[in-house]
Amino acid sequence: MASKSSASQKALRAVPAVQKLLDEPALMEAQSRFGRDAVVAAAREVLDELREKLRGNGGAQPPETSVLAVQAAARAGKRSLGGIRKAINATGVILHTGLGRAVLPEAALRDIAQELGGYAIVEVDIETGQRGQRDLAAADLMRTILGCEAATVVNNNAAATMLALAAVARGKEVIVSRGQLVEIGGGFRVPEVLAESGAKMIEVGTTNRTHLRDYERAITPETAALLAVHPSNFRIVGFTAEPGIAELAELGRKHNLPVIHDIGSGALLPDLAEELRHEPAVKASLDAGASLVTFSCDKILGGPQAGFAVGRADLVEKLRRHPLYRAFRLDKLILRALESTLALYLDAGRRGETVPTLRMLRRPLAEIAAVAEALAQRLREQDVELDAGAAEDSSRLGSGSLPERDIPTRVVRLRHPRHSAEELAARLRAHTPPIFARIQDERVLIDPRTLQAGEEEEIVRALAVIE
Ligand SMILES: *Cc1c(COP(=O)(O)O)cnc(C)c1O
Repeated sequence: MASKSSASQKALRAVPAVQKLLDEPALMEAQSRFGRDAVVAAAREVLDELREKLRGNGGAQPPETSVLAVQAAARAGKRSLGGIRKAINATGVILHTGLGRAVLPEAALRDIAQELGGYAIVEVDIETGQRGQRDLAAADLMRTILGCEAATVVNNNAAATMLALAAVARGKEVIVSRGQLVEIGGGFRVPEVLAESGAKMIEVGTTNRTHLRDYERAITPETAALLAVHPSNFRIVGFTAEPGIAELAELGRKHNLPVIHDIGSGALLPDLAEELRHEPAVKASLDAGASLVTFSCDKILGGPQAGFAVGRADLVEKLRRHPLYRAFRLDKLILRALESTLALYLDAGRRGETVPTLRMLRRPLAEIAAVAEALAQRLREQDVELDAGAAEDSSRLGSGSLPERDIPTRVVRLRHPRHSAEELAARLRAHTPPIFARIQDERVLIDPRTLQAGEEEEIVRALAVIE
């Protein structure tokens, strides 16, 4: 034991001083980029962690000072560049949750920079000078797009659905089909959301078949609402039955019960839903008679993270007055981005171009194929033994939308004789900005569908030097 502790004493004495690290070229450069204080803090952390490690391990020796300097520079850089920063999505998954779901329209970013540099009108009425409500402009845009009675918007669809259930049915019963008691991902589970809202869940029917009479039989004086949930990333196929929204709405009217429809993805209009290969549309659900429809703003809608509840004015007013509304309210940056995104929908002729999510979804196969061929050619021409070729494959919408429907695309498939697909993918992620690709059959796949303008250049650069 004595020899182990004296060995670690010796190793500890070999740990360089902070100043020695700071004099290394890597940290000199880092200081000029990120500031002296940030670099000193990072260097101290790296050295402290090293000492901790050496204390627990008698035989180990500290690495070269230059290696420690690079570690400290990387840490200072990561901190200074921030956690949430630019990345390149070459996966072909349009709504990639790990990469921030919808790509924001340029107009949204421009408007945030233009309008929110100082004070802004957020909760004040300019005519009266009185206190107003922050989501009125977004709600008004949504009313115009959908032609619905009323709308309100909160932090995300999980919040919108929870708020709707709490405001309409807390302490009372909500009837829902067993076939719709799903988990969407990211921990959104219908039974748990219902429980947290304070409403009592009354399950009816079976996993594969639920009939209108099942709902009708479950109605009691305690019933406050009928709930329908779009199963999103889950399908029951084969011997199945579920009443449509129109039938539920008719039953609701007969018993004076609202129908709450969590539609999830939110293709707003039927023509878009058609293009999206039959994702349900918010407007179609309202037209079928749903009293409140809740949906995400950062899925097919293509805006920032938020969640709408749209429909009957008296119900929307109940949501606005509920204490959870205050807890779920949106920040001004997000509200502005949302307003700018919704404004793009008013120009029906151009929204397919100005909303990036819609643009990527509709991007013609011929255009994607041309990018894939050209990129493969350039990568082959680089002198790095990279085997690159274009091939047919499919893109995905992602985020629980269109689960089983693939969108035809053309990818670049990459293989290297000495590096595994995992190693190539790791190299792409280590690039600045990090590039995310798909791995399939020992190949790295680059799908141009989700690349933004000019990003092919970064991929070429990232793969230009492979030993
Ligand atoms: C995605 C989804 C949710 C969760 O929406 P968030 O905006 O991520 O909170 C809830 N319900 C359904 C049906 C969904 O598809």
